[in-house]
Amino acid sequence: VEDSLEDTELLLRELRRGGYDPQYERADTAEAVSAAIGRQSWDIVFGDFSMPHFSGTAALKLIREAGLDIPFIFVSGTIGEDTAVAAMKAGAQDYIMKGNLKRLIPAVQRELREAKLRQERKQAEEMIEHMAYYSPVTGLANRNRLMDRLPEAIRANEGGEHPAALILMDLDHFKEVNDTLGHRLGDRLLYEVGQKLKNALYDTDLVAHLGGDEFAVLLPRLAHAGDIEITIRKLQEALRSPFLISGIPIIVEASIGVALYPTHGPDAETLFQKADIAMYVAKRSGLGYALYAPEQDRHSPQKLALMAELRQAIEQGELILHYQPTVRLKTRRVNGVEALVRWNHRQRGMIPPDQFIGPAEQTGLIQPLTHWVLRTAMQQCSGWRKAGLGITVAVNLSPRNLLDPRLPETLEELLHSAGITPDLIRFEITESAIMTEPDRTQEILVKLREMGIRFSIDDFGVGYSSLNYLRKLPVDRIKVDRSFVTHMTQNEGDEKIVRSTTDLAHNLGLEVVAEGVETQPILDRLESMGCDEAQGYYISKPLPADDLIRWLRGSPWA
Ligand code: C2E
Ligand code: CA
Ligand code: CA
Repeated sequence: VEDSLEDTELLLRELRRGGYDPQYERADTAEAVSAAIGRQSWDIVFGDFSMPHFSGTAALKLIREAGLDIPFIFVSGTIGEDTAVAAMKAGAQDYIMKGNLKRLIPAVQRELREAKLRQERKQAEEMIEHMAYYSPVTGLANRNRLMDRLPEAIRANEGGEHPAALILMDLDHFKEVNDTLGHRLGDRLLYEVGQKLKNALYDTDLVAHLGGDEFAVLLPRLAHAGDIEITIRKLQEALRSPFLISGIPIIVEASIGVALYPTHGPDAETLFQKADIAMYVAKRSGLGYALYAPEQDRHSPQKLALMAELRQAIEQGELILHYQPTVRLKTRRVNGVEALVRWNHRQRGMIPPDQFIGPAEQTGLIQPLTHWVLRTAMQQCSGWRKAGLGITVAVNLSPRNLLDPRLPETLEELLHSAGITPDLIRFEITESAIMTEPDRTQEILVKLREMGIRFSIDDFGVGYSSLNYLRKLPVDRIKVDRSFVTHMTQNEGDEKIVRSTTDLAHNLGLEVVAEGVETQPILDRLESMGCDEAQGYYISKPLPADDLIRWLRGSPWA
């Protein structure tokens, strides 16, 4: 920034003498300075202090106002001590007297070095900031950034004419993908999913990666609440075609939960909670998508909190097994028991399985839970064996257990460490567990059957599989659902169902157990139908192991 051509030449000469080959522009008006800084990025600026129509301080101000951190050195003849101080305060790095240019090169060297350091530090800070607000896996905003943006969207929305929406997404079966492909390809898949979601939406929508297989989308402003459906369809559409990861086509399905502001909550936290509940419902119902509704609250958040505790409960021995006997109708003797899990919660007392098995299935906790049940049941069985009691133990398996490829291996280990033979263990599985993935399930059933383990179809009659289909599976027994049994003597329809099911099952070579037997007349009726076994409160409720032994001693069924 210099009006004198001669002084400019002197400066350039000094720079060249110092080994520099400057590309430069000379400016002596505000317009020229603005144009120059707009045109390219400069390494350094030299400014005369006062010129006829312009001043170095004004140039410095322009540069700093443009947010540029370019070293600025005054090179001036008239500058005095006081003005120099003022210039430094205005943001100049140094001042050099025109009569003493020897100081120029060292100053330039120093300032270029420091500018570089400043820039590196800034980049590092930006990176740290980026790490705090963006996911390293997908490059998308992370939970922190979403939690910053959500209240902003809410504030901008005051008045609530145009709703905002929070969408939470959870990829189904991602863990399996991760386990089979490995983490590197798992991360690739997450990245690709993030990109597809982003491309499906507007730039004003925020797509965030919350970690693991969870994504979120913030739609800050919808024209109408109903438009959310369009967005959901776009998201589902984006995931529809398989992802090609390292040549492997992978199908991604997601469970999507949505909460709207202001309808479903007044603040970010509540919206998050509600969207989470909706997502949980979407997953559980198998619908894949749910808009929050207040009825969904009974699934949570208490239930979700319970789930958080369940993990510890399994480890800390808060689960216990009760055993409910089954009697053979021909001999009227107990021949086996069914292990039924309960959660002996420190504050809430005994929690029945219906309240935590479903959610455990959803959260994946069913694997450690079943593992615990199996180990405990087998050890108990082994203890009875040693005491001379040949009681078989039936264990209930969840759909997800049946899809676990390591199940046969795990069982082998557990049987071995309990020191019992597989014929003492029986599994109960429901029709719906088989029908979720019939081919894969069948494969596992065959493997387990080959190991010597037998299966019963539980809750038979409430599902939709035909007996004929079940016949193709390595199953030897069905348990007629208690809803047909318990009121059988008062309800002709129920009795017909039980009778014909029993006949058909026998024709197909399957044994029949009736569960939910609460009275003597029902027991007698079942016997006359030729039913093989019965279980129910009339015989005994599920009992802790010790009580069961005591009951057996005094029982007519023993
Ligand atoms: P389920 O396999 O059908 O088990 C029978 C349920 O019926 C048990 O309830 C039992 O207490 C109850 N019951 C037995 N006799 C009678 C009767 O005469 N009348 C009536 N009204 N009910 C009777 P519980 O123990 O609450 O178990 C509920 C369900 O929880 C079980 O149904 C089973 O699906 C599941 N479950 C229990 N333990 C486990 C487990 O270890 N793993 C898995 N995956 N599921 C389990
Ligand atoms: Ca059962
Ligand atoms: Ca049952």
